[in-house]
Amino acid sequence: MEKLARKQVQQLTPYLSARRIGGTGDVWLNANESPFNNEYKADFTRLNRYSECQPPQLIDAYAAYAGVQPEQVLASRGADEGIELLVRAFCEPGLDSILYCPPTYGMYSISAETFGVERKTVPLTADWQLDLPAIEANLDKVKLVFVCSPNNPTGNLVKRDDIIQLLEMTKERAIVVMDEAYIDFCPEASCVDLLSRYDNLAILRTLSKAFALAGLRCGFTLANASLIDVLLKVIAPYPVPVPVADIACQALSESGLARAKYQVLELNANRAYLQVGLSMVAGVQVFEGWGNYLLVKFPDGDALFKAAWDQGMILRNSPIENCVRISVGSRDECEKIVGFVRNFYAYTQTA
Ligand SMILES: *Cc1c(COP(=O)(O)O)cnc(C)c1O
Repeated sequence: MEKLARKQVQQLTPYLSARRIGGTGDVWLNANESPFNNEYKADFTRLNRYSECQPPQLIDAYAAYAGVQPEQVLASRGADEGIELLVRAFCEPGLDSILYCPPTYGMYSISAETFGVERKTVPLTADWQLDLPAIEANLDKVKLVFVCSPNNPTGNLVKRDDIIQLLEMTKERAIVVMDEAYIDFCPEASCVDLLSRYDNLAILRTLSKAFALAGLRCGFTLANASLIDVLLKVIAPYPVPVPVADIACQALSESGLARAKYQVLELNANRAYLQVGLSMVAGVQVFEGWGNYLLVKFPDGDALFKAAWDQGMILRNSPIENCVRISVGSRDECEKIVGFVRNFYAYTQTA
């Protein structure tokens, strides 16, 4: 069958998600999922009917949460579908390019590759900020520039002044896509206020992380109405299943938002615990992180990753040498990881 597939597809290797890599154990800190599993009511009385393409109640609720107008919101099957829609709507296969700045999230590249759209990369600087002169020198044929902040997997925020400079630099030429999948952990760092100043800005959001709904598959693209209208041309007719809209609306209700806020506070406190606990181990460097994960540098990252794996503690390896990404779990999970790392180095240092 492989031979019948498009050439582009034959050459593809699928995204190695944490879920695909697998593992066995009881501490799962590899996919930046929330440790909280909240309860929802399900209404199965309308499943014979198609959902609305963009359920108004859901759009209104997210617009109110994000501080934008409903016409500036598009709901999709996770933020990942938002990435795909942007590529499909704005990039001519074989002609246009996307640009992104590694190390960063893997799906920008995969979505472009799937649709035969060229990829340009401009690595982040040594302190994981935008290399603006190098981006400017590489903008030819670029339609989308993806910037992730807090960046996955490094955890840092991208400087706001640099984002503004990038928006100016790309005016009328390209769209800057800010991936704010983790912004709910540091809402003050959002670029949403820049939508009123820049037509070429799109912002990706998700319920998968701070809202603890990774399995629901619900994300949003925020942009000015004319950009949203373009995406509505390429989106599937029923992208938001009825139960998804139902549950997402409960998550975005007054009580749902209060619960999410409380859980974010708790996770941010756990992150601080993990940060300090791991930093106290000699030879371990923890980078400052603003999402629900930390990038941690070990004397031998691969050995630590494998030893944790064997103990049923599943972490995420990273493309950065000796660095492992650790999701912020429950306090109990964070304590287990800190204890494990402490023991691991106590043992290897005396062995
Ligand atoms: C998790 C994640 C996403 C995808 O979110 P979904 O809504 O689950 O598709 C997008 N961008 C980044 C940086 C992520 O870490």
